[in-house]
Amino acid sequence: MKKLLKANEKVIGVDIGGTKMMATVYNRDFEVLGTCRKKSKGKATKAGSTEARIIAILRDALKAAGDPEIHGIGVGSPGPLDPNTGVIIDTPNLGWKNFPLAEVLGKEFGVPVVVDNDVNVGTYGEWCFGDISDCKDVVGIFPGTGIGGGLIVNGKMVHGFSGAAGEVGHMTVMLDGPYCGCGKRGCLEAVASRIAIAKEIAALAAREDAPYILENCGTDLANIRSGVIAKAIKAGEKMVEGVVRQAAYYIGVASGNLINILSPEAVVIGGGLVEAMPELFMEEINRGIVDHAMPFLRKKVRILPAKLGDNAGVLGAAQMIAERLHPGK
Ligand SMILES: [Zn+2]
Repeated sequence: MKKLLKANEKVIGVDIGGTKMMATVYNRDFEVLGTCRKKSKGKATKAGSTEARIIAILRDALKAAGDPEIHGIGVGSPGPLDPNTGVIIDTPNLGWKNFPLAEVLGKEFGVPVVVDNDVNVGTYGEWCFGDISDCKDVVGIFPGTGIGGGLIVNGKMVHGFSGAAGEVGHMTVMLDGPYCGCGKRGCLEAVASRIAIAKEIAALAAREDAPYILENCGTDLANIRSGVIAKAIKAGEKMVEGVVRQAAYYIGVASGNLINILSPEAVVIGGGLVEAMPELFMEEINRGIVDHAMPFLRKKVRILPAKLGDNAGVLGAAQMIAERLHPGK
């Protein structure tokens, strides 16, 4: 990868997720100098506002790096947000409404700040630092608690007119399907996110069709997470496997639609569910793509699981600020 930063320049990548926050300090070669990660929710959040916690995590990461001078901060945050101004429009989970995150961090640390959607920075990280940096057109899909997407077209992140393009999770895949968090019915997120999967598995557990789940985590959706779902499938719970396969197939249907519209060279799929069950997920996603993408368009498209795990977001965010500091390089 092209070196953008000057020899002594250092940047921080920050990933503000629904469940965890992470900050990593990088040098010019994107070697990790220091990192800090904490849960977004839980007892500690009572200690202060979200922004105070983010500043504390940044300071801890800097401390771990030996308190170097930094030159810029890249942030991935849940949206919707305006990537031009770094204002977060509305994130009920974090308690932000029209919150000027870039300005707040810029004042606190005295350096330029770039803010983009968390899944955009994750896709950007996978693109720049994964196995697909040679591709100019990339689709990223990250199924988790919700389902996020990132679109790179002709080597550039797509933000669209509103700034919030790439909401793959709210593509309608099932007319009259279940309600989604956005208020519409039948979005991909409503049928294939971890919450959607957990909802169906909880029902199986409640009527004793998934004894492993019932015994190990009960019927509370919050406890039915990727790891235990994978274990239940390994333990032979066929209905649990059926639920996951169907959800993954729907992600394949959405991927097929995106391939028809954007003709990407690579589709990268990340997030905890895929990490826990890569083979099963990729098999069904590929099946959905074969069934729903036009043969000529899907020919040669690389469909691959994400490679960088939790580091995709911080790396992508750090790369974005490096590019902002040295545009056109
Ligand atoms: Zn929706």
